[in-house]
Amino acid sequence: MHKHSGYCTIYASMSNGDPTDGICTCGYGLYKKYSSDYSELFSKEREEYNKNYYGGNKTIHDTEYLDVETNKGKVVSIWFRCLHLNFKQIEVDSSRAKEMKRLYSNGKNVPKIDAIVVKNLKG
Ligand SMILES: [Zn+2]
Repeated sequence: MHKHSGYCTIYASMSNGDPTDGICTCGYGLYKKYSSDYSELFSKEREEYNKNYYGGNKTIHDTEYLDVETNKGKVVSIWFRCLHLNFKQIEVDSSRAKEMKRLYSNGKNVPKIDAIVVKNLKG
């Protein structure tokens, strides 16, 4: 047995909607799992998703926040670990600034970042 086949949805896309994962009915997935090889247990849709998944344990650094780089008060770049991200800088009024400072002040209400999904991840 060398690959998925038949009605296995890992092998062939499901026709009912937009599957994010597949079901192996051909037995190849189980065969691979017994040898602790999980590389072919995902549908091509999930593989496509994983290709643009940045973070988790797939990166050298393990920070859980965005690095915002500024120069003279203007944001020049935003990074998550080694990946630079698209951004749009918006100037806010003082009431919004006060509200956001309060939100971030104790750090308890701010979720940590483990990974992000981007379009067209390179490398
Ligand atoms: Zn299969």
